Amino acid sequence: MIIDAHNHAGYYGYSAERMVRDMDEQGIDKTWLLTWECPKDEYDPEVQHLYNVFSAPIAYETCREYRDQYPDRFILGFAPDPRRPESLDRLQAAIALHGVKVCGEIKLRMMYDNPDAIRMFRYCGEKGLPVTLHFDYEFSTGHKYPRPNWWYGGGIDVLQRVLEKCPETNFLGHAPGFWAHISGDDQYDKVPYPKGPVVPGGRIPELLDRYPNLYCDISAGSGLTALSRDPAFGREFLIQYQDRIVYARDAFNNKHREYLDSLNLDAEVLRKIYSGNALKLIGEDE
Ligand SMILES: [Zn+2]
Repeated sequence: MIIDAHNHAGYYGYSAERMVRDMDEQGIDKTWLLTWECPKDEYDPEVQHLYNVFSAPIAYETCREYRDQYPDRFILGFAPDPRRPESLDRLQAAIALHGVKVCGEIKLRMMYDNPDAIRMFRYCGEKGLPVTLHFDYEFSTGHKYPRPNWWYGGGIDVLQRVLEKCPETNFLGHAPGFWAHISGDDQYDKVPYPKGPVVPGGRIPELLDRYPNLYCDISAGSGLTALSRDPAFGREFLIQYQDRIVYARDAFNNKHREYLDSLNLDAEVLRKIYSGNALKLIGEDE
């Protein structure tokens, strides 16, 4: 079984039918449909066309419609903005009424260890929902408006504090501001997609060793670059942390799978990465 643990309804203008056709073509059994509920001034208007132009960026209702159309193919995610006073009530209703299984993705211009966020993440732990967190550092847009940069989350030390404060909640790290830390070099705040040999002492291995509630979402260019920039390291990393790595795309292509399948990994390692860990995170058996 293959599960794509990071994709979005309405992304790139894909209808539910087109998404399922793409999954069939790529041999994907199920997809986690993640929302992106974000205030209008917290995302780049230049990328809005990639998301849902009617209810930007990715509304819960759109994800729910897709899941209702194909209940056997989609796992419903929902991440309300924890700064909103009604976020816990909305999440509770979404779990009770619609069977939401994942809290994601969180992609907001706030420190993810603020008290409102921690309260919501702890609630997710009580309800058995894993939380997908998007991190980006500040990279200049060259403009003052709409924003001088598009940072999200607050960095790797914030992630550590979140893991520390919410030991009962499982988290998936994702995006450039997470994956740059596979390496112990100082590139994470210089370029969004560091390349070249991995330097020992990266924060990701350190946090994985220290916090059993951290998982890695390999989606997008960030995950693929981190695992392939130093192929020998990437292969060893996948083997060593085979119980903590989750296959995911955040796109409609087959690049991650082509890379994983090229590494000659044991069938058991691939089984965990492709579906076992994702199923475990939402409390389902294979
Ligand atoms: Zn993301």
